[in-house]
Amino acid sequence: MIWIEKSGLKVGIFPALEVIAPRLHIYFFSRNGGFSKPPFDSLNISTSTGDTTGPVRRNRDLIMEWIGMEKRSLAECEQIHGSGIRTVSRGGSYRGTDGFITSSENTGLAISTADCCPVFIYSPPEDVLAALHVGRKGAAAGIIPTAMERLRTEFRISPPLSVAVTGPAICRRCYRINGRIASEFSSEVVSEREGEFFLDLPGAVRHQLTKEGIPQGNIFSSPVCTSCDRESCFSHRRDRGRTGRHWSVAFMRERH
Ligand SMILES: [Zn+2]
Repeated sequence: MIWIEKSGLKVGIFPALEVIAPRLHIYFFSRNGGFSKPPFDSLNISTSTGDTTGPVRRNRDLIMEWIGMEKRSLAECEQIHGSGIRTVSRGGSYRGTDGFITSSENTGLAISTADCCPVFIYSPPEDVLAALHVGRKGAAAGIIPTAMERLRTEFRISPPLSVAVTGPAICRRCYRINGRIASEFSSEVVSEREGEFFLDLPGAVRHQLTKEGIPQGNIFSSPVCTSCDRESCFSHRRDRGRTGRHWSVAFMRERH
């Protein structure tokens, strides 16, 4: 992933995807370029942690204008750290869900995060796209295998032909967990330093995606850690909850 600066916003993109999947658009918005005041500075898209509606609305409008999509075409999920996934064909607010699947063109799928991992799965032959909010609870609850099962059975995708893209998330040096949580994950993604446990959430996501049959070479992972990169990212853990949320948005453009 590289950061690009365009029209006042700093946005993470994967240039190789434009060649592999020209109809797929995925944008990882940073915290830069918006209207919110500290500690929500500045491109915060959520009022859930105490920011006011005025700047949040302006930030959301700014992003939609940047993408070139109408607000009503964007699907947002409640994000309750579960494994619920909805199939959608239009925008809106969907309760009780942490992910989406769509085969509709120009339907934007939005995931908001500040340490959790935004995950997108795309299968070019069927033109089907999934967006998932994956924190440690969602990962342990199996949101990735749940999504892959739906994609295989309902949309007939072939995992070896699919592409997965993961955005900025908290890294294995920053994510301290307790022993009980450590026991929920395979030892490959938990490390121990001076009697404390640390989770490699991006590693756990990659591990689950490869276990589901997506080849390593088809997985594009952002190296950015939300906690390490204070300038570009909100981090719930680093800032002890006093922070905003950034958006990751993906959609498929229509054929020309
Ligand atoms: Zn870090």
